[in-house]
Amino acid sequence: MRFSGWRVFKEGLTGNKGWKPHWRDPQPKAEYDAVIIGGGGHGLATAYYLAKEHGLTNIAVLEKGYLGGGNVGRNTTIVRANYFLPGNSEFYSHSLKLWEGLEQDLNYNAMMSQRGILNLYHNDGQRDGAVRRGNAIVNQGDDAELVSREQLREMVPFLNYDNNRFPIMGALLQRRAGTARHDAVAWGFARGADQRGVDLIQNCEVTGIDIENGKVVGVQTSRGPIRAKKVAMAAAGRSGQVAAMAGMRLPVESHVLQAFVSEGLKPIIDHVITFAEGHLYISQSDKGGLVFGSYLDFYSSYAARGNLPMVEHTMETCVAMVPAVAKARLLRSWGGIMDMTPDGSPIIDKTHIDGLYLNAGWCYGGFKATPASGHCFAHLIATDRPHDAATKFKLDRFETGYDLMDEEGTGAQHNLH
Ligand SMILES: Cc1cc2nc3c(=O)[nH]c(=O)nc-3n(C[C@H](O)[C@H](O)[C@H](O)COP(=O)(O)OP(=O)(O)OC[C@H]3O[C@@H](n4cnc5c(N)ncnc54)[C@H](O)[C@@H]3O)c2cc1C
Repeated sequence: MRFSGWRVFKEGLTGNKGWKPHWRDPQPKAEYDAVIIGGGGHGLATAYYLAKEHGLTNIAVLEKGYLGGGNVGRNTTIVRANYFLPGNSEFYSHSLKLWEGLEQDLNYNAMMSQRGILNLYHNDGQRDGAVRRGNAIVNQGDDAELVSREQLREMVPFLNYDNNRFPIMGALLQRRAGTARHDAVAWGFARGADQRGVDLIQNCEVTGIDIENGKVVGVQTSRGPIRAKKVAMAAAGRSGQVAAMAGMRLPVESHVLQAFVSEGLKPIIDHVITFAEGHLYISQSDKGGLVFGSYLDFYSSYAARGNLPMVEHTMETCVAMVPAVAKARLLRSWGGIMDMTPDGSPIIDKTHIDGLYLNAGWCYGGFKATPASGHCFAHLIATDRPHDAATKFKLDRFETGYDLMDEEGTGAQHNLH
């Protein structure tokens, strides 16, 4: 079933009776060429690209809950490629290019909105940092512009420019950045994978990983054992637990990250705005709600609920930067469990166990990474070689200390995220 204006029109005239479920609900087979653990954005994108680009279709995605019920459906939807450090910059550049063609590729409306992202700066040092980051982004082939305080005032008049602690001096703008509808991204990849023959198996929790003579041979699940030549872990905030089933201890901590949405308002924010000094990001959804978030909750946890201090911190920061928000009612807040590696960058790599692959460590950047993560992970699984855009996301960097990355330039500091 293809989506088109004509199809919507025809269905509208015929009582919308012709729409079909977007994916099948198959029983798990006894054996697959590959199984992917985790039906989030990354697992589904991996399955999609494995089928589309590598012709591997005897594969299954095993999801313990429902597709898109994890972080892919809980994030603040920001998509950008304004990363600074080698390793991250080319990967997120690759991702943004995939985002730009994604809706056509999937024939699915993911509400991709390139509304631009503004990273505010508040002092000379930060402006210097913004210039350096902007140059790195442009050198990478992506777009970046420095916006002065006067230009910014015209673009975003309601910010508090003269806040005593955080006077706004300007911003770094990436026009191609923006937002995408997170659930639709999962659904689009799921539909595309299903159409190519991938089995998407929900309510199927992986409870064990079977290894014989150093090689993976399958998984144990809540719906019985499944044999597989290759097993790929893409379990986001649960990757530490899943890897432990293969006897691995990952260099990741799991933390809750919270998000907030206000009541629907008339359009007041055209862009995504981020404020690094106190850590806040805010945008307005197409329904009118202000969507915002800030730091991770500082302690490790698998409980997908946040804590009050972080709520207060986020609200205080938000009102300091955008005073008008004080008049809006907060409708909802929620949390998701995310991985954090010691250097804040992800892992897409083979493990020491033959046939077992790891995709983990996605923190604040995990949603914007979705297409590239799937694309590069599929490449690795199919060819056993890293994709050019993801050569630095190695697991052993935490063992050797060589090639560590850190977007904040603070070095690897355990427990200090
Ligand atoms: C509040 C919040 C705001 C965020 N904002 C942004 C943002 O604006 N921009 C951005 O780029 N990133 C953002 N992120 C990060 C981003 O959402 C995640 O890093 C990314 O979505 C993780 O990848 P995923 O989509 O595959 O994860 P998930 O959707 O969590 O997928 C993992 C899946 O694995 C399943 N699973 C786990 N264990 C098992 C098992 N044993 N068996 C079977 N299945 C299992 C889970 O049920 C889950 O569905 C945010 C995250 C949160 C929580």
